[in-house]
Amino acid sequence: MALLQISEPGQTTAPHQHKLAIGIDLGTTNSLVAAVQNGISKVLTDENNKAILPSVVHCGKNNKLTVGCDACPYARTDPTNTIVSVKRFMGLSYKEVKGFKNCPYDLVEDGNNVQFHTAMGDLSAVEISSTILTSLKQRAEKSLGGELTGAVITVPAYFNDAQRQATKDAATLAGLNTLRLLNEPTAAAVAYGLESGKEGVHAVYDLGGGTFDISILSFQKGVFKVLSTGGDSSLGGDDFDQLIIDDCIETLKLGDLTPTQMQRIKQFSRIAKETLSADSFAEFHCVEAPYRISKTKFESLSKALIQRTLLITKRAIRDADIAIEDIKDIIMIGGSTRMPLVRKMVSNLFDKPVLSSINPDEVVAKGAAIQANLLAGNKPPDDMLLLDVLPLSLGLETMGGLVEKVLHRNSTIPTTRAQEFTTFKDGQTAMSVHIVQGERELVKDCRSLGKFELRGIPAMVAGNARIRVEFQVDADGLLSVSATEQTSGVKADVTIKPSYGLSDSEMEKMLKDSIVFAQDDVKARQLHETQVEAHRTIEAIDYALAKDKSMLDEAMLNDILDARSQLEAVINDKDDKVIQDKINNLESSSAKFVEMRMNNTIAKAMQGRNVKEFEE
Ligand code: ADP
Ligand code: MG
Repeated sequence: MALLQISEPGQTTAPHQHKLAIGIDLGTTNSLVAAVQNGISKVLTDENNKAILPSVVHCGKNNKLTVGCDACPYARTDPTNTIVSVKRFMGLSYKEVKGFKNCPYDLVEDGNNVQFHTAMGDLSAVEISSTILTSLKQRAEKSLGGELTGAVITVPAYFNDAQRQATKDAATLAGLNTLRLLNEPTAAAVAYGLESGKEGVHAVYDLGGGTFDISILSFQKGVFKVLSTGGDSSLGGDDFDQLIIDDCIETLKLGDLTPTQMQRIKQFSRIAKETLSADSFAEFHCVEAPYRISKTKFESLSKALIQRTLLITKRAIRDADIAIEDIKDIIMIGGSTRMPLVRKMVSNLFDKPVLSSINPDEVVAKGAAIQANLLAGNKPPDDMLLLDVLPLSLGLETMGGLVEKVLHRNSTIPTTRAQEFTTFKDGQTAMSVHIVQGERELVKDCRSLGKFELRGIPAMVAGNARIRVEFQVDADGLLSVSATEQTSGVKADVTIKPSYGLSDSEMEKMLKDSIVFAQDDVKARQLHETQVEAHRTIEAIDYALAKDKSMLDEAMLNDILDARSQLEAVINDKDDKVIQDKINNLESSSAKFVEMRMNNTIAKAMQGRNVKEFEE
């Protein structure tokens, strides 16, 4: 992800200075670690020669912690103390997590955050995730035989600030130095790009256990650029398991199930699903009865889920502003892309065969390791630039509850952009900066990320202060915003680490709404702008009247006051034309007055000066 400045010209490191850096695919279902050794990226295996570490953590009695394969059986025997798919909980609030279906855990509210109540005490998602990272770190240290400089950890492209921050926190807790967070599809493309060296536009389709991600990338002259991304973090292999679970429960007419029975069915269903990728039938014994499902039936159930991924894919292609025919390669990653129907439907959409030559489980970790190796300062095999994009626009609230977008959706990051604002009222000494995320025109339809105040602005006439607001998104996708009053140098800033996250389905909804409501939004914006103008016009008239009412005769004054109250009466009207009409009316009624004041000001300015000054 992000603009990676990888090679320093002339920087070479002798072999003995080679820094040990690893790439970690911290997956929802499975995690892996890889490292570049002798110029080749390889996954590192455990003592049983296994590369995949199931992302499963058992928190047992007497502080007995088990991670990975050994923890898997506990998912069945002790489900409440066995956390699977902890990634789904990263950076989310208690409220958001409460909505999860079939959640076997005992969740406790901890302020805005959530903790798992286990036999080892209450643990956060960050703490549990860090045990997985610790396990991979130990494996790497043993395998590479030394201390690690740092790690590149991959995250789904759609992870928001809170989720990214939580991932970094977990790494810190595990004693890992995070060199960079890298989007999973981008990491995969790095692995493929180096091996195939193909130029052109590519799509990376990643269907894992818990998440779906699609990225459209261009790869040219050794430079990757992410043109657009899309995804859904609540769509993955687990949902295909659920199809079998539901079918099993329905077919066998199973009533209330204990958590243990539920876990058992879950585990069997997953095995059945994986079996169906190769065989035409799968069966298992469940709660005393046999259950059998055919590939045909499973595929007919699966269609709708795959269709959802295709819709998201099409939208990402639209966002990238390219024609589907222009996509050269479709890279398939994530264990769920082993399902033949997934490959077939994706291939049909693009009307060409898909690529899956690199092991879909290992490709992300391998790409991450390549980046880690480069970032650690080891001699790069190639110059490579990676660009990443913002999933949602970032902006500010302006007068009337409107959003001024500062950084647009799909702009490449890291990025910095500043915009100037001014004060609305005379003598205004403070300004509130409200940062929002989303595509809609009104603040109330966007997500609030944070607010801060810029105080100590010198008192000036409205419109004279120059407040520069700068948005900066770093390589990891984290946002900081600063506001500076230019004449005085007064400054305030904030780094956004939202304490609650935004799920992908919400993000998707925000995007969909921006399309559905686009026309309404333009109207609403117009209305708000007209209302702001109406307020401004009334304020200007009031100010002028307070100063120079004496200039007016009674008829003129009444005329203005009448027009003013007519405007005031319609200021909350829903039709901007009605308001605009009354603004025009007030402006024409007061035109003469404005002219008189202007002449008077000029006359005053000339007073006391000697005529010569003006003659020169
Ligand atoms: P994640 O990135 O979410 O950790 P992975 O990429 O490791 O996930 O994919 C795990 C998912 O892949 C699981 O849902 C698993 O059941 C599924 N999977 C693995 N092998 C197969 C297979 N042969 N057929 C279908 N699904 C599979
Ligand atoms: Mg994955």
